Amino acid sequence: MHDGHDDVFDKLREECGVFAIYGHPEAANVTYLGLYALQHRGQESAGIASGTGREIICRKAMGHVADIFKPEVLAQLPGHMAIGHTRYSTTGDSKMLNAQPFSVTCHKGPIAVAHNGNITNAAELRRDLEADGSIFQATSDTEVILHLMARSRERTLAGALREALLQLEGAFSLVLVAADQLIVARDPHGFRPLAMGQMELSEHRIGYVFASETCAFDLIGAVYRSDVEPGEMVIVGPRGVTRERYAPKRALAHCVFEHVYFARPDSLVFGRPVQQSREAMGRLLAIENPVDADVVVPVPDSGVAAALGYAAESGIPFRQALIRNHYVGRTFIEPSQAIRDFGVKLKLNPVRHLLEGKRVILVDDSIVRGTTSRKIVRMVRQAGAKEVHMRISCPPTVSPCFYGVDTPDKQQLIAANSTIDEIRRFVEADSLGYLSLGGLADAVNDHNRDFCNACYTGVYPTELVQIDTLHTEKPDLG
Ligand code: AMP
Repeated sequence: MHDGHDDVFDKLREECGVFAIYGHPEAANVTYLGLYALQHRGQESAGIASGTGREIICRKAMGHVADIFKPEVLAQLPGHMAIGHTRYSTTGDSKMLNAQPFSVTCHKGPIAVAHNGNITNAAELRRDLEADGSIFQATSDTEVILHLMARSRERTLAGALREALLQLEGAFSLVLVAADQLIVARDPHGFRPLAMGQMELSEHRIGYVFASETCAFDLIGAVYRSDVEPGEMVIVGPRGVTRERYAPKRALAHCVFEHVYFARPDSLVFGRPVQQSREAMGRLLAIENPVDADVVVPVPDSGVAAALGYAAESGIPFRQALIRNHYVGRTFIEPSQAIRDFGVKLKLNPVRHLLEGKRVILVDDSIVRGTTSRKIVRMVRQAGAKEVHMRISCPPTVSPCFYGVDTPDKQQLIAANSTIDEIRRFVEADSLGYLSLGGLADAVNDHNRDFCNACYTGVYPTELVQIDTLHTEKPDLG
């Protein structure tokens, strides 16, 4: 472990969802549904690669899953196995180039790969590969994995992948489809989730499915069986399923922010219901930060489960006094600054009669820059609230994430540069309270210290490698 520094390397921005299926006659169609359920994990681009046993076909584009995968596009994706990816990133003109899956043909045959997470030594590996003659098409670190595999002298594809993965540092939940098999793997710290499930098919056949979150299984009628273990590789092929540990055991570092914000509340993440964690966060927040008030109001949707917990614990009534327009994307995730500023009004509208003359406890999951929170506090006050008490269901976000969550650089993180009272004044709340680190650990049941809390502590569970200066453009490592 070591302390993170602002200038450790350029901030890599990436939020993604992955899906994979083996043994289903309509693998691409099911992958489409899986990605549809994982849309919240990335709304910039999406892609599906399917395999027929002989060839791999890949289709990807910018935009939302349902807009990209029209019936005529899905019809171009035959086969009984497929992988899929949804992606969000903020930087680079080459966004389409970096859309996943990446599909190539090398001496191991045709392969397509996609992953969720950031590989923290990707730039270093890429520099070495380039010095050795490799030519890169994009700036995504998925491509680094493909080059490492292509150079491997291992005989089997799984062997080549194992050799590649052992050179990686950081976070990855990876899905790969090859001519006759599907392979998924998770980094040894288990930063990002990857669940494994089964689907009953006709004639007593079973399909195997993998997804970032179990909400994808619910939609397709699959049953969650287990997580792909940190440091584990699962190979599914004509001869069945093989699970093997490819890397030595490392300290676990599950991303706690998945439970705080990122995952859907109807998912199991790291084997635990997200809704349960969020309600517990709200209850503990109420115990740690009580205040006399008339109503508990969530910032939808991110604050709903925690607000329910806060209301239940405090006995103060829960009121949905901010209504969200669901047809607008999450404003934070919109790449354009212009839309972000405008976004709060597009997204939220107050229910005036629930707020007029009331002392309001406003519950949200996090404050990042503070700008959205300030607009919401103003909106609630303009709707007639007498007092606005802001409660946040995690500790102050003081350090960027290098493992696959899009938190901004330290300069832009309000809690990295201000005291809690300064933040309170900035967001214009009458009071402000955060959940403590201990409270968060209790809420996610982290008795064994299995979670990464780097965004709240600045203590990173892996070495962070300096990005070289060869790239003039800010790298957008996928
Ligand atoms: P702000 O007040 O501008 O810091 O925005 C806070 C809002 O951003 C909260 O409602 C959070 O739910 C949301 N948020 C925090 N982290 C992220 C993220 N990585 N992606 C999208 N939204 C986020």
